[in-house]
Amino acid sequence: QLDRRIKTIVSQRNELETVLASMLEGVVAIDNEERIININAAAAGFFDCKPEECRGRNLQEVIRNSALQHFVRKSISNKVPKEDDISLYHNGEKTLHLQSSPLLDANKVSIGTLVVFNDVTHLRRLENMRRDFVANVSHEIKTPLTAIKGFVETLRLGDVDKPEEIERFLGIIQKHVDRLSSIVEDLLSLSRIEQEDEGKTIKLEEGYVKDVFQSAIQICHSKAEEKKININLICEEQLVSCFDSSLLEQAVVNLLDNAIKYSEPNSTIHLKGNLKDAEVKIIVEDRGIGIAKKHQPRLFERFYRVDKARSRNLGGTGLGLAIVKHIAQAHGGNVTVESTLGAGSVFTIHLPK
Ligand code: ADP
Repeated sequence: QLDRRIKTIVSQRNELETVLASMLEGVVAIDNEERIININAAAAGFFDCKPEECRGRNLQEVIRNSALQHFVRKSISNKVPKEDDISLYHNGEKTLHLQSSPLLDANKVSIGTLVVFNDVTHLRRLENMRRDFVANVSHEIKTPLTAIKGFVETLRLGDVDKPEEIERFLGIIQKHVDRLSSIVEDLLSLSRIEQEDEGKTIKLEEGYVKDVFQSAIQICHSKAEEKKININLICEEQLVSCFDSSLLEQAVVNLLDNAIKYSEPNSTIHLKGNLKDAEVKIIVEDRGIGIAKKHQPRLFERFYRVDKARSRNLGGTGLGLAIVKHIAQAHGGNVTVESTLGAGSVFTIHLPK
């Protein structure tokens, strides 16, 4: 009988250990003296040690983190469930969501606290991005709206009576309305591409890359001509790839549009297409103002601009490159930049063959 009981107890303990070890959440049971009673593999992983090395040791010895210590101390003394986020600096920064509840023995006496850890680094990053995005959109929309409101009020009050002044004010209002509609159009494009990408509804069809280039050049033709900029097309007739032609055209137009905006008049932009290393490369090269190294990693973020005032003056929304990035990703590719301040920039869309 004794033997059977021992076997049952051992098997129950093993079951419990297996359940704990298989959990993705970290679990730590801590006694009232802040010693670790039990810890599962996921929690030990957060502290970069092995479960057997942690058991019986003081939590402070295992991981030095004042926020965690404070949390555990409060959980032990308050004896009520508690939750909070802490940052852990171990192989990079991690955000952990902690939930604790009192650890009770058979007589319902508190013998410590049970803490469950969840890695919410990715989730918090996304939340921050969403918050920043909403703040950015509101700010971008508010600026032209404030200007429009101001000019309309001035006109209505009748403070301006000269026809040429009225005309000038209307021109400014028109400019801000155009800006608003560009922002809304770009935002709609972005969300459409994202939705299509998530739902995988993008129809990739084989086609000639040069055809896309030619229609993109046609769209940018008048802007290029205004600045007497020549667009030099270098692409083999037979270069084919799988793409959604209207999306790829939009990406090329955005890159050409930037190259025109950020180049001096009378210069040349090169638009190249070639097949190299099992990928089709679409290259837009300019000899314009260039971009300093420190800005390059952030260029493809929504609303990121090197020079806000300059971009706005040129009618930019700060969304053009974010759209290019999403289009490239929707095709299973990516976009890269090489640039030297004052010498020019090369943007390359890489499409898998
Ligand atoms: P914008 O509407 O402001 O042009 P983008 O997303 O298209 O927004 O580009 C982001 C920023 O990257 C721009 O504001 C500009 O500072 C920089 N940039 C983009 N393309 C070029 C280029 N060809 N030459 C120099 N700077 C560029």
